Amino acid sequence: EEEKSLNFIEHIIEDDLKEGFDKEKLRFRFPPEPNGYLHIGHASSICLNFGLGEKYDAPVNLRFDDTNPAKEEQEYVDAIKRDVEWLGYKWSEVRYASDYFQQLFDWAVEFIKNGKAYVDSQTSEEIAAQKGTPTTPGTDSPYRNRSVEENLDLFQRMKNGEFESGTHVLRAKIDMSSSNMLMRDPIMYRILHKAHHRTNTDWCIYPMYDWTHGESDYIEQVSHSFCTLEFAMHRELYNWFLEQVSNPNQVQPKQREFARRNLSHTIVSKRKLLRLVEEGIVNGWDDPRMPTISGLRRRGYTPESIKNFVKTIGIAKRENLIDVSLLEFHAREDLNKKAPRIMAVLDPLKVVITNYPENTDEYVDSENNPEDEVLTYRKVPFSREIYIEKEDFREEANRKFFRLKLGGEVRLKNAYIIKAEKAIKDEDGNIIEVHCTYDPLSKSGSGTEESKRKVKGTLHWVSIKDAKEVEVREYDRLFTEAEPDRHEGKDFLEFVNPDSLRVIKGYVEPSVEEAKIGDHFQFQRIGYFNVDPDSTNEKLVFNKTVGLRDSWAK
Ligand code: ATP
Ligand code: MG
Ligand code: MG
Repeated sequence: EEEKSLNFIEHIIEDDLKEGFDKEKLRFRFPPEPNGYLHIGHASSICLNFGLGEKYDAPVNLRFDDTNPAKEEQEYVDAIKRDVEWLGYKWSEVRYASDYFQQLFDWAVEFIKNGKAYVDSQTSEEIAAQKGTPTTPGTDSPYRNRSVEENLDLFQRMKNGEFESGTHVLRAKIDMSSSNMLMRDPIMYRILHKAHHRTNTDWCIYPMYDWTHGESDYIEQVSHSFCTLEFAMHRELYNWFLEQVSNPNQVQPKQREFARRNLSHTIVSKRKLLRLVEEGIVNGWDDPRMPTISGLRRRGYTPESIKNFVKTIGIAKRENLIDVSLLEFHAREDLNKKAPRIMAVLDPLKVVITNYPENTDEYVDSENNPEDEVLTYRKVPFSREIYIEKEDFREEANRKFFRLKLGGEVRLKNAYIIKAEKAIKDEDGNIIEVHCTYDPLSKSGSGTEESKRKVKGTLHWVSIKDAKEVEVREYDRLFTEAEPDRHEGKDFLEFVNPDSLRVIKGYVEPSVEEAKIGDHFQFQRIGYFNVDPDSTNEKLVFNKTVGLRDSWAK
């Protein structure tokens, strides 16, 4: 039973344990590059690695793969930590690849001494031209057979800052005719005169990804290093580098690959998301339209909704496109359990209940959340003048319209049955007000015969004199195409949806005054909303997280 529900990554670990790998030595890492904010794709990798840590009671490091000072920043380090914590995971240690710069340098010196690395003084174009093709061997660099002394001297001077960026590189001396192009003397170091967010100007040579990643895993004694499929071909190089440095008594990290997750109608690439931010298409990395963890959080997603989504899509060996509606489904499902219900009207139409007394102080009892184990209630003010949604009234409609029409009845949620008597119009014929009468004996929960009378429709409403005006931000998909970055010859920015944000006024029952930033609500019959950090004491701002699929039947 248990066996069957394991994913292929768990099978790899189980097989290793069966073959005698010491369970105490299991260790994982999540290795983001701090060159942007984490996105929903990263959530898969986070849940995979930290989930394995929980399952096997093994440490998981948060490792920053910070080897490219041109793109990395402290702001991103901070944001990544915040997002991993918010998802509910605890790392064992925070590590940085930059912690290992000295060790990597020392190892590289050993490589040179052992004839396994050389300084190449060609341009990157020349090096690229010599790579060959997968079916034809590459050409040796004229510098490939430099003496150990010359290589040691040049490498030291590269480190000392004697050369311009791009003038020399250190290459591993492996095999220029390997069928794996990555094995054709890969670059280990490049010169880059750029300050690093942690090591500042200590270094002007920076190690390449392939040279850094496996060695960092080894230093941290990570047993299983999971990465996405595009690194499958890198595995041979990962192992080659490890073989040169590792002590057989230590854990030999194992790289294994899983499929990247792609979400429809958005982009999951930090580099491309950065363009949306830089070009002002969104208002920052945490814009609620962004597929970043921080954007989803601000939009009103809960950690559980994201984790449940990730669990549902699972870990795969092949890439495929996941429809964004599946993510929305999980938001709805989790918020249905957690979000208190309140009433809000977003497109108001004034209703005057002509036979209701003026200046009363009546309240109706409203259930906070029918999903709660112990039901709680609040008092919502009712009055002679209320707002309902414009679309909930028609002068005339067929029998399938279960809302308010002239001569017809509806129940106001938790309150009375009203009947529409007259539509008041402006000069242009637009309905600006509806006059109704109510049945004073029909109050919900009052126990009278009338209160139990069945009418087809139930509408949400707010008392005009008590309602709070708020700003509501409604979002649509950020891109009009399912895969905006997979259109040959077109830039993904061509598919930005120009109408992805709509700002409107809303009227909400007064209990909302106590809401705090981040609080979630279900606006009944409309959807899930949460309080945006842009809110002030004067005005609350709500983000629409997701709409309700079904309006209630009661
Ligand atoms: P990006 O292109 O967005 O920068 P990346 O892979 O370069 O993605 P990293 O910071 O290196 O980003 O990612 C950290 C970890 O998350 C890596 O192990 C990476 O493979 C994984 N990861 C990144 N994007 C996805 C995705 N879409 N689906 C699953 N895992 C991902
Ligand atoms: Mg990366
Ligand atoms: Mg990247």
